[in-house]
Amino acid sequence: AKQKGRNTWHVYSQELHDELASRLEISKRLRHAIEHEKLTLYYQPQVDMTTRKIIGLEVLVRWIEDDGTIIGPDQFIPIAEDSGLILPISDFVLQNACKQLGRWRQQGFTDLRISVNLSGRQFQTPDLTKQILFAIRNAGIPAAYVELELTEQVLIENQESHTQFMHDMRENGITLAIDDFGVGYSSLSYLKHFPINALKIDRSFVKDIPEDKDDATITQTIISLAHNLDIGIVAEGVETEEQAQFLIERGCTIAQGFYYSKPLPVDEITQLLSQSNG
Ligand code: C2E
Ligand code: CA
Ligand code: CA
Ligand code: CA
Repeated sequence: AKQKGRNTWHVYSQELHDELASRLEISKRLRHAIEHEKLTLYYQPQVDMTTRKIIGLEVLVRWIEDDGTIIGPDQFIPIAEDSGLILPISDFVLQNACKQLGRWRQQGFTDLRISVNLSGRQFQTPDLTKQILFAIRNAGIPAAYVELELTEQVLIENQESHTQFMHDMRENGITLAIDDFGVGYSSLSYLKHFPINALKIDRSFVKDIPEDKDDATITQTIISLAHNLDIGIVAEGVETEEQAQFLIERGCTIAQGFYYSKPLPVDEITQLLSQSNG
């Protein structure tokens, strides 16, 4: 057993070493990518399932390598959060998304909203509120068409400063959504204390409805909760007609998912907007 233990430790240590080396390597390449503007924004429609109209777009960052390979955020956002690179990335995302919304507004898509993800690390910067307001003013767009997505985890970590931040946002007309709702380990009391506009039902619940009875119950309960609190509701990860039907029948009419559209670059989104919102 001792021998086995030592071997296990040895293997683990080697893996840990490789893992650290590769994280460091990714950090280095990511820093270079930021400096050379190799990050780009994709947008995924949030669709009114009853009318098929696009009411909002979630902004999702991508890293395009020189050979054209697209690296998804799951592969670099966690590393960027550890290294602090998430701060320049977030600023890039916010500034560019606001400017793009300005262009879409000039093309006539004036009731379109953008949703931008916030990272917990951004709350450690003193001027987050200023930074957000600057990006919006600089782009000349109304604040009411900008929504910020925060996960439950991010909210729980520092309730005090978040409360002030959220009120500052709401006072300026910016709306707030809770991302991945239902997977955090929080109490529900924050829904009462925080000025939240919408809940996004996590994809893990939507994935197996309507067959999985537990997931169906949880999804239905989250929808009722939002309705009773007078909060908006968006279903994430809708991939099938059956899921869409289930949600519509229970009063959730806005969805984001591959059934309606994958995240797409600006040109393709503009085409889609012309077809569905033109
Ligand atoms: P998220 O905020 O929950 O974003 C939704 C993710 O679900 C996106 O993955 C989207 O492509 C995926 N998705 C949407 N519909 C479906 C579906 O029907 N089926 C499946 N299987 N997946 C679907 P993506 O773009 O890879 O982003 C992953 C995560 O990376 C995001 O999860 C978010 O946490 C983070 N992220 C992306 N962009 C940013 C950013 O600009 N800033 C920060 N802080 N985080 C970001
Ligand atoms: Ca999100
Ligand atoms: Ca989500
Ligand atoms: Ca499940």
